[in-house]
Amino acid sequence: MSESLLQPPGPLYEMAQHQFLKAAELINLDENIKRFLLWPQRILTVHFPVMKDNGEVQMFVGYRVQHNTARGPAKGGIRYHPNVNLDEVASLAFWMTWKCAVMNLPYGGGKGGVRVNPKEFSEREIERLSRRFFSEIQMMIGPNKDIPAPDVNTNEQIMAWYMDTYSMNVGATVLSVVTGKPVDLGGSEGRSEATGRGVSIVASEAADVLGMDIRNATVAVQGFGNVGSNTARIISKEYGAKVVAVSDISGGVYNENGLDIDDLISYRDENGGLIKGYPKGKPITNRELLTLDVDILIPAALENAITADIAKDIKAKIIIEGANGPTTEEAEKILLEKGVFIVPDILANAGGVTVSYFEWVQDLQSFFWDIDDIRKKLKRIMVKQFGEVYKTKKKFNTDMRTAAYIVAIDRVAMAVKRRGYYPM
Ligand code: GLU
Repeated sequence: MSESLLQPPGPLYEMAQHQFLKAAELINLDENIKRFLLWPQRILTVHFPVMKDNGEVQMFVGYRVQHNTARGPAKGGIRYHPNVNLDEVASLAFWMTWKCAVMNLPYGGGKGGVRVNPKEFSEREIERLSRRFFSEIQMMIGPNKDIPAPDVNTNEQIMAWYMDTYSMNVGATVLSVVTGKPVDLGGSEGRSEATGRGVSIVASEAADVLGMDIRNATVAVQGFGNVGSNTARIISKEYGAKVVAVSDISGGVYNENGLDIDDLISYRDENGGLIKGYPKGKPITNRELLTLDVDILIPAALENAITADIAKDIKAKIIIEGANGPTTEEAEKILLEKGVFIVPDILANAGGVTVSYFEWVQDLQSFFWDIDDIRKKLKRIMVKQFGEVYKTKKKFNTDMRTAAYIVAIDRVAMAVKRRGYYPM
């Protein structure tokens, strides 16, 4: 970026730019379009007060970033995590642009986050924090501008508060301003399981193209939140894979005969949300989980989970990125050299935003679809776009991540070209 005075917000964003540039070079992307797409369009940082239950006011920092809106309103989740920072949020917004474009959804990319450990606060405090944060970023938000959704540590109740806050502020109920809401409040059937369902669909497609039988393929899942637990459940119960290991921040559990995921989910829910101490398996560390001798590895936690040091010991043949940005640049090099088939985040975990799109469409029409319809439409889109990416991989003789970027960049570049640069 030496010709430019612009600075990437940090190292994660720089890694994301490298992923983009690798694809841009292969397709000889127009220089003007390349320059434009490398940078986030809008960044908002807010510092805001929240009154705690004891009457004390605490200050928080949060962000909303829109990377690009050439194809439609910005779309992307909001996360609550103690490590949230601008580099992370901007990178996640950047990836949302490509994720929406790979799925051919009429959206650009956005993301938000608040630097907070929600486990240290009461439910009322989280409600006050959510409502104040949403009011602070409301200038960027709207059903035709930017539509938030859940991400790490946010859920349907928080989406309901966001929707209510926006609606109170504008004086009318606007369901379509947020997705991932409760089903009884403008939410969509199948939204909460959608990311895990999408991960399972692409895992089965990946197994297919590699000539592996998904039935009885062994699987390890890192992360047991919304994405990890729904993936483990669907890939085992509906696709017949054998999930032998699962982990979360409290540690992991291994059972060579396969874990009973429903039982593990019940245990987690009765155990403060953690799987630590689950009796029907052997405890393992996070590193042991990632380097297990399994067919399919599914990182479904946070960024940078697979480092170079871990990558050299990975034995899985397929990696499906349930999380956003779980593989570092150096790790990816090692894995590709070893011939590991990596289905990248922007394709693998796009089931969530795809059903968010269905939710938004249903809200705008005030006409709601049933679960079979949602699942059928999701599967059709994911299988089709997996096929597009795989075809592109073959055509350019490249890896799946670069192929996914090529498919996505082509679509965004077309929108930019047709819209032009305002003012000319
Ligand atoms: N936070 C999810 C993601 O990273 C979902 C975004 C959405 O539904 O808008 O893809």
